[in-house]
Amino acid sequence: MSLAVTPDILTDRLHEALKELVSRRKFELWFSGLRVISQSAESLELAVQNSFHHEWVMTHYTKELQEAVQSVFGETLKYQLVVREPPQTEASPALIQAPPVADVRPPALVDDFRSRNTNYFQQHSDVTLNEKYTFDNFVVGPSNQLAHAAAMAVAEAPAGSYNPLFLHGAVGLGKTHLLQAICHKAMDSGRALKVLYLSSETFVNQFIAAIEQGDLSRFRYKYRSVDLLLIDDIHLLANKERTQDEFFHTFNTLYNDQRQIVLSSDSPPSEIPTLRERLISRFKWGLVAEIETPGYETRQAILRRKARDRDVELPEEVLNFLAEKISTNIRELEGAVTKVHGYAQLTGRAVNLDLAREALGHSGDDTHQSILGVDRIMDVVCKHYGVRVTDLNGRRRTQSIVLPRQVAMYLTRKMTPLSLMEIGARFGGRDHSTVLYAVSKIEERINGGSQFAQLLAEFEARLQH
Ligand code: ADP
Ligand code: MG
Repeated sequence: MSLAVTPDILTDRLHEALKELVSRRKFELWFSGLRVISQSAESLELAVQNSFHHEWVMTHYTKELQEAVQSVFGETLKYQLVVREPPQTEASPALIQAPPVADVRPPALVDDFRSRNTNYFQQHSDVTLNEKYTFDNFVVGPSNQLAHAAAMAVAEAPAGSYNPLFLHGAVGLGKTHLLQAICHKAMDSGRALKVLYLSSETFVNQFIAAIEQGDLSRFRYKYRSVDLLLIDDIHLLANKERTQDEFFHTFNTLYNDQRQIVLSSDSPPSEIPTLRERLISRFKWGLVAEIETPGYETRQAILRRKARDRDVELPEEVLNFLAEKISTNIRELEGAVTKVHGYAQLTGRAVNLDLAREALGHSGDDTHQSILGVDRIMDVVCKHYGVRVTDLNGRRRTQSIVLPRQVAMYLTRKMTPLSLMEIGARFGGRDHSTVLYAVSKIEERINGGSQFAQLLAEFEARLQH
């Protein structure tokens, strides 16, 4: 095949034709990287720089592209659009090209990207982002300052200074919150970004499923083609050697392509048991930031914030009481606000120190806890939801049963001294991880909405009397 004119010239012509058909900005965004690769009598091969552009052009601009091709090459020529990296790869195509417009992007364009980014996220992640987990809602104090600043930097300029970003800290101190805040901010930044956030568990499960279905290549493509990969609770990869190896390769690919990786864990890299040495060393390449337990002032600030968000008035003395009493876990601080509020509503009393003491005291009271039986909890929950105890213990997984089952497990965990295993056994012989999962699901829901939180507070109050 000999070309009458070079592909470069054809590319220029095609560009000219496209400029007639779409706005300048759209041309810059979507077509400036489009190239003619080859042309024969029957077909024309075109390339764009990445799969994101490919998908976008194919879903939004086939008509314009067809028209431009026709105007340059004649009526009958069919084209094929492929993905191919630009010939002289520059050192840092870290992100899928940022639009070449000024820093302040027109709102319409930002919206465009936001919905595009959100779509990608929703299609590829099984997690719904908690809309409250934003930077705006994150209270910064000395205990989390570094982690917060690094997370902000990463969201603003992925694959810039801190790659990977590794956040670690005990449970309930804001790791998930920060990871999701990065997602929100990055997806809102007015750029096309493939953001993927998932739990280690999902990564493991999908990896196993891919092996079983003999479909590793799709699995790999999915994880290795993102701009920002965030994996929560990476310590759960301990003991999962094959998954660790797979992750190692994913990590390398992304890192080499200058894509951002963010990880969270309950301990620093070197303290995750059975984590392969080569992963440990890679995790330390970027920035390792610890989130520590918040000091008294930060706890006060968080309480103030949570009370305000929930429209709850907390007198100073109550606030100080809670800040003093609950010192290790921010989720529990939140829970305390909800509980005090729920208790006040339930009893029709004003929020004051006495009431706060009572509200907290009850569930912390050991004698109460040991007396309360699982049967009683099941009974109260079943009555409320209109299901039977045999349903709770059975295998059905419809939402109408799953929710009451999880609520009952949560209450049992909270209000009795039974271990996770014992609770699992009482609920139809389930294992401890099922109980743990139920508890975390319910906690999430409690923090997600005041109505549900109030319902749970009512359950607790009813069970305590
Ligand atoms: P982790 O993932 O570390 O276990 P989470 O991110 O789930 O913890 O945080 C637990 C709860 O505490 C969440 O509801 C989160 O919004 C809240 N939280 C944690 N840190 C902060 C903070 N600095 N400011 C406001 N809320 C916070
Ligand atoms: Mg978490």
